[in-house]
Amino acid sequence: SVLDQVLATRILDVLDYPKPGIVFKDITPLLGDPTAFGTVVGAMAEQVRASGATRIAGLEARGFLLAAPVALAAGVGFVPVRKAGKLPRATYREDYALEYATATIEVHRDAFVPGERVMIVDDILATGGTAVAAAKLVRDAGAVPVGLSVLMELGFLGGRERFAASAPDIGIHTL
Ligand code: 5GP
Repeated sequence: SVLDQVLATRILDVLDYPKPGIVFKDITPLLGDPTAFGTVVGAMAEQVRASGATRIAGLEARGFLLAAPVALAAGVGFVPVRKAGKLPRATYREDYALEYATATIEVHRDAFVPGERVMIVDDILATGGTAVAAAKLVRDAGAVPVGLSVLMELGFLGGRERFAASAPDIGIHTL
């Protein structure tokens, strides 16, 4: 399909970035090709419509690049889930473990209408730590995470299993 072509040709493997032994998925060719970008955004927007979500939570930073156009295409609002210290008003915070450190993400306390359905959007599901923390934040903020939408999963890192263990009720949509 066109979508398979786009994903196979417009996401590049970069060896040894950001560290030796890591194969980094570079999505900048996809973003630079309006046909490819539009195909991906259209497919994600369809998942949003099918899920009944009324809001998109986009994860900083690469998730923003997909989540904002997907929100517009699906006709729903966009909510930024940001790294600590970036949002100007009262927030909920969630700490989570990285490989050798911890990270914190935040969302505005009034970002969601209570009880509304939310699709979480990011570029890559790797270990799943970011997505697990984001789902907790959406719940803390009074909304219902109904799906996680990503371009691709790095299956060998076990993100799907980790996310499912923490949030078995949330569907994972991978292009
Ligand atoms: P996780 O928390 O699942 O381990 O990491 C997921 C986060 O790291 C995502 O927000 C994603 O943007 C970023 N990430 C991890 N590995 C890659 C990669 O190979 N390519 C890209 N583009 N992002 C990655």
